[in-house]
Amino acid sequence: MSKQQRAKLVVGNWKMHGRLAANATLLRAIAQGAGELPAAVRVGVCVPSLYLAQTQSLLEGSPVVWGVQDVSAFTHGAYTGEVAAPMVSDFGAMFAIVGHSERRAYHRESAELVAVKTQRALEAGLTPIVCVGETLEEREAGSTEQVVGAQLDEVLEKLSAEEAARLVVAYEPVWAIGTGKSATSEQAQAVHAFLRARLAAKGAADVPLLYGGSVKPDNAEELFRQPDIDGGLIGGASLKDRDFLAICKAAASVAG
Ligand code: PEP
Repeated sequence: MSKQQRAKLVVGNWKMHGRLAANATLLRAIAQGAGELPAAVRVGVCVPSLYLAQTQSLLEGSPVVWGVQDVSAFTHGAYTGEVAAPMVSDFGAMFAIVGHSERRAYHRESAELVAVKTQRALEAGLTPIVCVGETLEEREAGSTEQVVGAQLDEVLEKLSAEEAARLVVAYEPVWAIGTGKSATSEQAQAVHAFLRARLAAKGAADVPLLYGGSVKPDNAEELFRQPDIDGGLIGGASLKDRDFLAICKAAASVAG
């Protein structure tokens, strides 16, 4: 399969949004819309962990998979407020986002902690979506590759090639998240090609590489057309069924 014909993956990151009634409406609409997409597009939603049971009951049997936005670095124990990866697995989840820039910034998560969380997710049978990305200052200083390379390396160093091959990696420039200012397709492709080479050196060239940062219905197709962009991690636009499904359809239009 050539790079252009890779299957696409579109995953919503709801962040700390949602209430029971609104979730039900949104999940039903996404399940219905995803049912009309070709099999070359996979769709997922990462919800607040409190809503995993609701999400499982509404999505089970649909083509949409689900997950969470973080997991604990511990499997169990006296860690008040934490949610362990095996607990997440109990609810049929597929994905755990780890290392989102909001957690790195607001919860002071180090690259090392992100690597440990990745290991915990893998051990529990989850697919970690490892987020990497540079700040505006880092981009302007010309250190984008150094920053995202170091973030990815910290994770890869702790994994075997087989474990690395089970990852999804999301390139999310911090300056593009929630700002309405997406990276251009050229900027994103350049970083994705760099990350692909890094993963290939580890024996994990086929890891899906998602772009995240202000993806919207009107810029999704151009981004997803790039040879090393295998789909998107979608924040704000994943909270509106029409926008999210339009992004999924854009992925379908360029999927193999
Ligand atoms: C995100 O939070 O992962 C994200 C990509 O957000 P947004 O799409 O809103 O920029």
